[in-house]
Amino acid sequence: MDCLFCKIAAGEIPSTKVYEDDTVLAFNDINPEAPVHILLIPKEHICCAAEITAENSAVVAHIFEVAAKIAHDMGFADGFRIVNNCGDSAGQTVKHLHFHLMAGREFGWPAG
Ligand code: 5GP
Ligand code: ZN
Repeated sequence: MDCLFCKIAAGEIPSTKVYEDDTVLAFNDINPEAPVHILLIPKEHICCAAEITAENSAVVAHIFEVAAKIAHDMGFADGFRIVNNCGDSAGQTVKHLHFHLMAGREFGWPAG
């Protein structure tokens, strides 16, 4: 499968790793939209949030545990944003499930 984030998870394409374990990888976004902009991905290929099921959702829970750990370890647990874009109309450009963990500036709502 020709998937960019599968290749990053496999180490075939380099990334700046923030956290890694058996099932989850976190690395810096190549085009940051905030002073902290980290992508959290399952190492297993799940295309998008619409494909989360009872069978694969444990890794999604784990991703949120990892995000909280990173927030504490990096000192921004008092304020951060987690974003998932699902599908073309939401702006998902890489079709491997990922969560954007962003911090270090004020965030508008619902966008910005
Ligand atoms: P999406 O638009 O699918 O929600 O987010 C994809 C994200 O992946 C974007 O923020 C983009 O900057 C990031 N990205 C795309 N290609 C690469 C890459 O090769 N390396 C890294 N570290 N990030 C990437
Ligand atoms: Zn993939």
